[in-house]
Amino acid sequence: MEFLKKNPHFKGLSSLFKRGIFVNYPHSFPKFNHMTDNKNFEVIIIGGSYAGLSAAMALGRSLRKVLIIDSGRPCNRPTPHSHNFIIQDGENPGTIAEKAKKQVLNYNTVKFHNDLAIRGEKTDTGFEITTQTGSIFVAKKLVFATGVKDIMPDIPGFSECWGITVIHCPYCHGYEVKNERTGILANGYFACHYAQLVRNLTKNLTIFTNGKTEFTPEQTGKFARHNILLIEKEIIYLNHENGKIRQIVFEDHSTFALKAIYSRPTFEQHCKIPEMLGCELTEQGLIKTDMFQKTSVANVFACGDNTSPMRSVAYAVGAGNIAGAMVNNQMTEEEF
Ligand SMILES: Cc1cc2nc3c(=O)[nH]c(=O)nc-3n(C[C@H](O)[C@H](O)[C@H](O)COP(=O)(O)OP(=O)(O)OC[C@H]3O[C@@H](n4cnc5c(N)ncnc54)[C@H](O)[C@@H]3O)c2cc1C
Repeated sequence: MEFLKKNPHFKGLSSLFKRGIFVNYPHSFPKFNHMTDNKNFEVIIIGGSYAGLSAAMALGRSLRKVLIIDSGRPCNRPTPHSHNFIIQDGENPGTIAEKAKKQVLNYNTVKFHNDLAIRGEKTDTGFEITTQTGSIFVAKKLVFATGVKDIMPDIPGFSECWGITVIHCPYCHGYEVKNERTGILANGYFACHYAQLVRNLTKNLTIFTNGKTEFTPEQTGKFARHNILLIEKEIIYLNHENGKIRQIVFEDHSTFALKAIYSRPTFEQHCKIPEMLGCELTEQGLIKTDMFQKTSVANVFACGDNTSPMRSVAYAVGAGNIAGAMVNNQMTEEEF
């Protein structure tokens, strides 16, 4: 409290002082022990998967005091093999993240905290993040690398096959089921988009709309020209064994045997804190950022799946790397 009396411009911090929480400003608050205080960081990264770890590496290499808070629920956890990311092609996705985490934690200014961030508030000096276990952390900058949550459709068997034989991306998993009897479970624009991409990988293609089709005559003309079947019947379940699909079973109890299905479930932001802080979302429900991963709220950055429909490990790593560098760049500008 003595410090506040001598430095009235720090008055906004008084509530944090009362709660025993100090804010780390290495240049304005020299008494603060940069390395040993465990609640105060220069940057908090929420989400410690590919995008978050990549941001943390750029920041750790810049000697920034960083906390990664991660709840351990990356979107690709059901998939046994991750593809299309050089050096790690075919590797288990958890193994890629573990290797990354080990490398990032070699930078001793970076800390990892397994927990769920549940609340974020702006303070006079930065942000305060509260977690499910009751911890409170403060930092001047935030990076959200929180990904998205895929919402499984109400079709029994779908979620069990998700990431194994029900796949979202031809680049990630299409090669493994090339030339196989394949389905597209979609309607309208997305069915058409998948059809033109997947036809390159297999000519044995059927679109399942699970209800009335929503195609233009031009689109149905294209399907007919490329021998792509259209089935409107309603699906009651996917028959599978340990995620390996055998058949689609329809309402009329007829079946269709196949090896893989492409589908793009709807999604929601995995973490609602960016919205709580006022970050603008796009029409698609993604966090709006500029090319430097800055959100519409000052000092808040976002990267990875939560900001882009280009869902891939390579993209998340690239965007995380930019976010980390840009946070550090902003801090060096402010400090210089
Ligand atoms: C089934 C499936 C298979 C895929 N296969 C491939 C593939 O083969 N190749 C490829 O390149 N891409 C693949 N992808 C896409 C790839 O997995 C994603 O693009 C990538 O995981 C995005 O990384 P991210 O770090 O942005 O988000 P995520 O990996 O989803 O990680 C987000 C992290 O944030 C954490 N988090 C969220 N909210 C909070 C909170 N409030 N507090 C603390 N932590 C929080 C989560 O627990 C999670 O650990 C696949 C996706 C799916 C769904």
